[in-house]
Amino acid sequence: MSHSLNPFDIAQQQLALAAELMGLDEATHELLRWPMRELHVRFPVRMDDGDTRIFEGFRVQYNDARGPTKGGIRFHSRETFDVVRALAAWMTWKCAVVDIPLGGGKGGVVCNPKELSASELERLSRGYIRALGHYIGPEIDVPAPDVYTTPQIMAWMMDEYSKMVGHNAPGVITGKPTPLGGSQGRNDATARGGMYCLREAGWVLGIDLNQTTIAIQGYGNAGQYAHKLAKEIFGSRVVAVSDSQGGVYCPQGLDADQVMAHKQRTGTVVGYAGDGGCQNVTNAELIELDVDVLIPAALENVVTGENASRVKARVVAELANGPTTPDADDILFDKGTFVIPDFLCNAGGVTVSYFEQVQNAYGYYWDLDMVYKRLDQKMTAAFHAVHQVAQRHRIHNRLAAYTVAVARVAEACRLRGWV
Ligand code: NAD
Repeated sequence: MSHSLNPFDIAQQQLALAAELMGLDEATHELLRWPMRELHVRFPVRMDDGDTRIFEGFRVQYNDARGPTKGGIRFHSRETFDVVRALAAWMTWKCAVVDIPLGGGKGGVVCNPKELSASELERLSRGYIRALGHYIGPEIDVPAPDVYTTPQIMAWMMDEYSKMVGHNAPGVITGKPTPLGGSQGRNDATARGGMYCLREAGWVLGIDLNQTTIAIQGYGNAGQYAHKLAKEIFGSRVVAVSDSQGGVYCPQGLDADQVMAHKQRTGTVVGYAGDGGCQNVTNAELIELDVDVLIPAALENVVTGENASRVKARVVAELANGPTTPDADDILFDKGTFVIPDFLCNAGGVTVSYFEQVQNAYGYYWDLDMVYKRLDQKMTAAFHAVHQVAQRHRIHNRLAAYTVAVARVAEACRLRGWV
């Protein structure tokens, strides 16, 4: 492998390519290469058996030139500081590429939520916020859900923060349940935003999405809704899906409700039989399936220099963060694969999170149609801003997305007099 698979090294390599293309001055490049603030916490959680366990958590506030930092919290047993740093950097570029007035941040707790009871999960969520509460806030840094964190977890965190500051503070966190100030349309916003990008990609490439086959890796919030919406919006045929235990491939197409029911019953999509003709596949095999569209919607570094040449999909729509390594990017670009890069493709979640903040600040709530309409406007404008730069400079979409986003963040830094 010619490149490191440390996601933060990758984020820095990607920025360096954009900085070179843009002729970014050295001071601005150095400023944007590193997080402006990092918090590393350890906090106690009382377990159900009476023991106390100490958990490790992170929060990275990467850059707030364009507004308060914003980004999800992940609960994952292999979470590391560098993963959180990379994700916080990508959040910075993501908020900038969809042109919302926010900076980038990210958080994580090293834990395996599948091993925790509901009450342990609640105490862990509250403990994390108690450890961080003085450093976040609606005008400072606003967390949200991400891998293995849910609206219920956001509700506990918002409640804990509200207790700390002594008043109701719904704007401290987004992705809340709607009775607590969550926005309509937040649940499927990431996948829906990705589908709006895919629709525009289909349009510029002349692909009839109604006739396409799709493989989706990851069957959580992003992956499940992508399955449902690809069918609902385009009538596409989703032929393969997977989760952490493996995947299933059904050439005749997979019904989203039935796959979900199977996963709820058995804990995994593996073994779903449909009407026959389905076979189990590994996560590695899914990436290389003969489909029109590949949607990575799980973890980082799944399309690499090793397997990129065998990716058969014409379009890779990255709902996951960091699924493609830089060497894979070059291979995909050379063979004409159209990649909708992560921080553009999955920006629907943060865009509706931003709508949630706006609604919390106003205390006035929009209906679903209003959310969809405004999300569509943001995603479509962002897609074409990136596509135009890619066409003009004959570069791949990720580099083009960086160029658009970094220029906006650099301008905010310059206007503030930082560089
Ligand atoms: P989630 O926790 O709801 O689901 C994660 C899914 O990935 C699960 O189905 C899990 O089984 C699967 N998975 C875990 N390890 C895997 C592995 N090694 N191989 C294959 N599948 C594996 O998480 P999510 O919210 O759907 O997030 C998925 C990706 O999308 C992440 O990269 C996340 O950062 C990104 N993302 C999510 C949002 C959002 O709003 N939910 C927004 C932007 C980006």
